[in-house]
Amino acid sequence: MKRMETDVVVVGGGATGTGVIRDCALRGMACVMIEKNDLASGTTGRNHGLLHSGARYAVNDPESAAECISENRILKRIARHCVEDTGGLFVTLPDDDTEYHKRLVKGCRAVGIDYEEIDVSAALKIEPNLNSGVLTAMKVPDGTIDPFRLAASNVLDAKEHGAEIRTHTEMVRCIISGDRVVGVLCRDNLNGELFEIYSKIVINASGVWGRRICETAGVPLTMYPSKGSLVIIDYRVNNVVINCCRKPFDGDIIVPGDTVSLIGTTSKKIDYDRIEELDVDDDEIEVLLAGGEKLIPNVSRTRVLRAYSGVRPLVSRSGDVDGRDITRGIVLIDHEAENGVKGFITVTGGKLMTYRLMAEWAVDLACEKLRVDVPCTTHERPLPGSETPSNRPVPHYFDGISKSVLGSAHYRHGERMDHIFSKDKKSYGLVCECEMVTAGEVEYALKNLCVKDMIDLRRRTRLGMGPCQGELCSYRTAGLFNDLGAADEQTAIRMLKDFFEERWKGVKPVLWGDTLREIEFTYWIYQGLFGLGGVPDEDEPI
Ligand SMILES: Cc1cc2nc3c(=O)[nH]c(=O)nc-3n(C[C@H](O)[C@H](O)[C@H](O)COP(=O)(O)OP(=O)(O)OC[C@H]3O[C@@H](n4cnc5c(N)ncnc54)[C@H](O)[C@@H]3O)c2cc1C
Repeated sequence: MKRMETDVVVVGGGATGTGVIRDCALRGMACVMIEKNDLASGTTGRNHGLLHSGARYAVNDPESAAECISENRILKRIARHCVEDTGGLFVTLPDDDTEYHKRLVKGCRAVGIDYEEIDVSAALKIEPNLNSGVLTAMKVPDGTIDPFRLAASNVLDAKEHGAEIRTHTEMVRCIISGDRVVGVLCRDNLNGELFEIYSKIVINASGVWGRRICETAGVPLTMYPSKGSLVIIDYRVNNVVINCCRKPFDGDIIVPGDTVSLIGTTSKKIDYDRIEELDVDDDEIEVLLAGGEKLIPNVSRTRVLRAYSGVRPLVSRSGDVDGRDITRGIVLIDHEAENGVKGFITVTGGKLMTYRLMAEWAVDLACEKLRVDVPCTTHERPLPGSETPSNRPVPHYFDGISKSVLGSAHYRHGERMDHIFSKDKKSYGLVCECEMVTAGEVEYALKNLCVKDMIDLRRRTRLGMGPCQGELCSYRTAGLFNDLGAADEQTAIRMLKDFFEERWKGVKPVLWGDTLREIEFTYWIYQGLFGLGGVPDEDEPI
C-alpha cells in the first residue's frame, strides 16, 4: 500500500477544513487535506451564505454573536471578493410583539454590533419590496458570503504555500498506535485505491460527519444534527438581508445572493444515521414560501428555482435540546486532554462565518503540540483574489471581451481574474450565458481549483446555477472538458449525465409553473434529442 508522511492531516474540505489547511500551510507546516467528495460539498455548500452581523444570536446566544461580529469585520477585509457588503434589516412583522425589538437592541449593544434603529419609511426606501406594514426596523451590518468561492480561495492559498489537497479522497479510519492516532487510511474515490498517510497530528474538520471520524479513533462525540431547508427564487428581490425581528423560526429570513434570493430556513432535528438524506419536504417549502411572503409580499409568485437542505453540525454538551437552542459557538476538542488519545483534534460546531476563527483555534492547538512557534496571520492576510485593498476598476484586457463578462469574472475571482483571459480569443467565448462563464474561466478552474468533473466546476464558477439550470451550457462544458484533455469522450458524456442528475435533485421538489416548463424543455433536449437517459452508468462503453 502506498504510504505518505506529513506533519498534519486535515479531514474535511468544507469551510472549516479549507481554513485549517490554509492556516497550517501559512505557518510552514507540511500538511495534507483530504475531502471525500468535493470542496464545499457538505454543509458549507448548503446554507444561506449569510455573513452574520451576529444580531440573529444577540438575544439568545451572545457568545456566538460576539464571534460573528468580530469575524464579520475580518472577512470583509480578507475575503473581499467572496463577500457582498449588503447590510441587513431586522423588521417586526405586523403580528409580532415589538418587545423583541427592544431585547435585540439591548443584545446588540452588549455584544458591540453597530445597529441603527430606523423609521419604517427609511427601511422601505432601502428595501422597496418590503412589507409596508412592518412595525419596527433596525439596520445591522449583515452581508453575504459565497461559500464556494471562500473554500476555493483558502485552498488556492494553501496550495501556493505548499499544502497538498486531495479531493474525492475519503478517510476510511484513523490509524492507531498505542494511545496515539498516527495517521489515516484513505481511499481515492475516483479509482478505489487505498493508501496511508502518517502524520504527527490529525485534525478532524469533517462537520456533521465528525462523530464517525471520532468513532474510528475510539472516542465519542455527541452530535445533534439539525436539518435546514431553503428555497431559491430566480430574481434578486431584495437588496439587503431581511430578518424577522423575533426568536429565529422557520421562514424568517431572505438573503440576496448573486442574481437570486434565498428564503430560509427550517430546523428539524434528525437521527444521526440520516445525515445524508437531504430531501426537502413539501411542508418545508410551504412554510418557507409563506414566511417569505410575510416579509416581501408576492415573493412566492416569482419563479421558484430550486430547494435544498443541509445539516447543521451541532454539538451540545448540555444534554438533548432543540436544534434552535443549541449554541452556534465553536467546539474545539483536544482528544488527548478529553479522552487520552494523543495526536487527534476535532473542531466543529460554529458557523460558516466563523470558519477562520475555528481554524485559528485548531491550528494554535496543533502548533502547541508540535512546538511550532509561528503565530496565526489569517486575520490580516487577504485571500488570493482579495489582495488589492480598495476596489480597483475592473481592468479591460483585450478588445472583444464585454465589460459584463469581465465584471462577472472579477466578481467571482477578484484579482485572480488576471489569470483567466489569454490573448487567444477562444478564452473569451461564453460557455454559460446565465452566469457569464467563459472558456478561459473553465480552463483556469480546471488547472488551479481542484476541479475533477462538471459538478466540481459548477461550485467553482456557478456554471449551471442560473435560471436555465444547465440547459444550455452543460453540453458545451462536456465538450470543453474533452477539448482541454480533462476527460475522454466516454467520461465527458457520463459527467454530463451526472451533472443533470445532481441538478435534478434540487429542482424536483419545486416542479410547478415555469420551472416545470423549463425542465420539460431540458428533458426534450437531453433525453429526446441526445438520448442521455440511455447512457449506461458503469464501465460499459457508450
Ligand atoms: C440550512 C443551513 C443554513 C445555514 N446558514 C448559515 C449562514 O447563512 N451563515 C453561516 O455562517 N452559517 C450557516 N450555516 C452553518 C454552516 O453552514 C456550517 O456551520 C458550516 O458550513 C460547517 O462547515 P464545516 O466545514 O465544518 O462542515 P462541512 O461543510 O460539512 O464540511 C465537512 C466536510 O467533510 C467531508 N467529510 C466527511 N467525512 C469525510 C471522510 N471520511 N473523509 C474525507 N472527508 C470527509 C464532507 O464531505 C464535507 O465536505 C447554515 C447551516 C445550515 C444547515
